[in-house]
Amino acid sequence: MICGLLGRKLSHSYSPQIHKSLGTYTYNLYEVEPEELESFLKSDDFSGLNVTIPYKKTVIPYCHRLSPCAEKLGAVNTIIRDPEGNLIGHNTDYFGFASMVARSKLQLWGKKVLVLGSGGASVTVNCVLKELGAIPIIISRSGENNYMNLDLHKDASVIVNATPVGMYPNTQVSPIDLSLFPNLEGVLDLIYNPARTKLLQDAESRGLVAQNGLWMLVAQAKESAEWFTQGQIPDSCIEKIYVQLRNEMENLILIGMPGSGKSSVGRELARLTGKTFLDADALIEEEAGKPIPEIFAENGEETFRKLETKVLSQVGMNSGLVIATGGGCVTKARNYPLLHQNGIIIWLRRDLDKLPTEGRPLSKAGHLEEMYRIREPLYTAFADKSVDNNGTVQQTCNEIITTGGTE
Ligand code: NAP
Repeated sequence: MICGLLGRKLSHSYSPQIHKSLGTYTYNLYEVEPEELESFLKSDDFSGLNVTIPYKKTVIPYCHRLSPCAEKLGAVNTIIRDPEGNLIGHNTDYFGFASMVARSKLQLWGKKVLVLGSGGASVTVNCVLKELGAIPIIISRSGENNYMNLDLHKDASVIVNATPVGMYPNTQVSPIDLSLFPNLEGVLDLIYNPARTKLLQDAESRGLVAQNGLWMLVAQAKESAEWFTQGQIPDSCIEKIYVQLRNEMENLILIGMPGSGKSSVGRELARLTGKTFLDADALIEEEAGKPIPEIFAENGEETFRKLETKVLSQVGMNSGLVIATGGGCVTKARNYPLLHQNGIIIWLRRDLDKLPTEGRPLSKAGHLEEMYRIREPLYTAFADKSVDNNGTVQQTCNEIITTGGTE
């Protein structure tokens, strides 16, 4: 059986990976231009399709029949062929978002929920929320409820982001200021790349429920696979595939004192996990065109820190990396969201008397104790977890791998 994803720009899609875990069918990416859509849909190149931006509405006239859910939402994200060869349109985003809400454990009955954006996903979210007894309010840049009159909705309990604001590669922006909502319990962001948008990081820092759209993506794929194969797939598959994908995408970011073993542990960790290793200091040297001691001597520490932030903002938004950072990256709070957006931050702890000082501009002449005194609370603030690195590289890597991801 040949299935696939129909859309326009699909190079970053996670769907092939997800469907590989869901079924034995072939799953292709079909990047189709609008003028080629009709001939593609009339061809018999596929048995089943997922449909994404910008074709969720455009495919409707080519469907012989729509499921009640697709009919209600006015959007199709899954197409199958019936035994007569007719195309039948379904919508599995509804199940995907309902499953995301269930996982969040947020109780929405009677609660005001702000839904940011008025596009296709917003329609689905709105419909699910109504079904759950919530009171959804669509916030649209050009609507009656908009970003200029948010004080009408200070009593909102939950915010759902159904806009692309904060999505890769423009990751450090948020569609809304959470400080306006004193009763807020949680934020659901349909974006899954990065794993933690700025909006979700804001929610997390306030101790609120903060969940990204990866679960929804996997859940809607599960229901699509059931349509493709005409079989039942247990819901437990969603959790399994979600965890696998999250672990694959997650960056492992090593912080710690200069000489604490970030590069050697990082290289081995990358080998063991199949991730790509990046050394932030090496990238800074590349960017500056000179070694770090020379940057400090000729341009000063502030110039070095600016270069460091520039490099971290570029690498931090990517996925599937092991990143060894410079020992002082924690001295700038601005580096935290850049690293945390896609990564688990691991503090490598090594006894001070084991730290080398050669070639390290800030580690010279007995300054290490003083440096550690200042930095210890900063490492604590940045770290999702800390790992002892006084034993072998292998022991440290094993501990990082066996203690798992961030959730
Ligand atoms: P869409 O149809 O293009 O709608 C997005 C809406 O966001 C627009 O209608 C617009 O609403 C608002 N918007 C766009 N640019 C904005 C900006 N610069 N500032 C503020 N608002 C802006 O897209 P969609 O299909 O609904 O998807 C929306 C998001 O959900 C995307 O990030 C998509 O990747 C994600 N999504 C995720 C899943 C999943 O499985 N996790 C499924 C579907 C969609 P107004 O003009 O009314 O403000």
